[in-house]
Amino acid sequence: MNVRILDRVGVPMQLTKRSIPAADPGQLLVRVLACGVCRTDLHLLDGEVEIPELPRVLGHQIVGEASDGRLVGIPWLAWTCGECVYCTTGRENLCPRARFTGRDVDGGYAEWTVADERFCFPIPDGYPALQAAPLLCAGLIGHRAFRMCGDARRIGVFGFGAAGHVLCQVARHEQREIHAFTRPGDRAAQAFAMELGAATAAGSDEAGASSLDAAIIFAPDGALVPIALRAVVPGGTVVCGGIHMSDIPSFPYADLWQERVLRSVANLTRADAEEFLALAPLVPVTTRVHRYPLERANDALADLRAGRFTGAAVVVPDHS
Ligand SMILES: [Zn+2]
Ligand SMILES: [Zn+2]
Repeated sequence: MNVRILDRVGVPMQLTKRSIPAADPGQLLVRVLACGVCRTDLHLLDGEVEIPELPRVLGHQIVGEASDGRLVGIPWLAWTCGECVYCTTGRENLCPRARFTGRDVDGGYAEWTVADERFCFPIPDGYPALQAAPLLCAGLIGHRAFRMCGDARRIGVFGFGAAGHVLCQVARHEQREIHAFTRPGDRAAQAFAMELGAATAAGSDEAGASSLDAAIIFAPDGALVPIALRAVVPGGTVVCGGIHMSDIPSFPYADLWQERVLRSVANLTRADAEEFLALAPLVPVTTRVHRYPLERANDALADLRAGRFTGAAVVVPDHS
């Protein structure tokens, strides 16, 4: 089969041939139909998030066909121990022994992959593979970040990419307001946010003081943390939704004072996946996707880094 492997950190993924993996007991062999690109892939490629063992096949928003014909989704969470204090208290996302798809086990930038069946999810009816792929990380983890905002009505989203474009639709469905903040001057992303029903869209340099009930930061820029804290009302929450961020600059305690809460969101639980995949068709969430053949997977990552598209990139193997 054709597969993209990451041999060495900092070097583009190589296209190569491998034999189709064999499924162990409890695993599904999945013919990959689509695999969404995530900013975490860039952090892995750049060495900002460590990969324990190379080479590795990246890609953790996989939609494919199991051998019995079912359309299944394979997310970032690939395996948990089931017995630690986190696993036994509904927080398997924090399991210290957790393995992640496209980091600890091979992912979806390939024609075939295998996955633990207990961590695979049925794709909801009405979602073609290409449209479903971004639901599996951008959708799921974006939703976990959204839930951390509690009942906030006015929510700021800093960095309006794949996760923001899904979350905006869910928020609207729940009669909440999304205020999108993009890179200063990114008119395309701002127009995209307005098209999806955001109440306002502006550059992050235009975020005002104390007008939001909560804020979610998807952009990997630590300088946004004090900006977001200043933008939320007393008691408001700021959620950092990414796996990696540049350092947070020091800021006055007054920005946190008045019971503002700053927190991160890590990974996902299987309950998150079940909840979000049941909700998506009710909204219904539609995704804006840009298709790249497996041959152009590196271009998809480069375009994500440069902000050259709105919505989500999806890599599609051709199975020729
Ligand atoms: Zn991801
Ligand atoms: Zn555990």
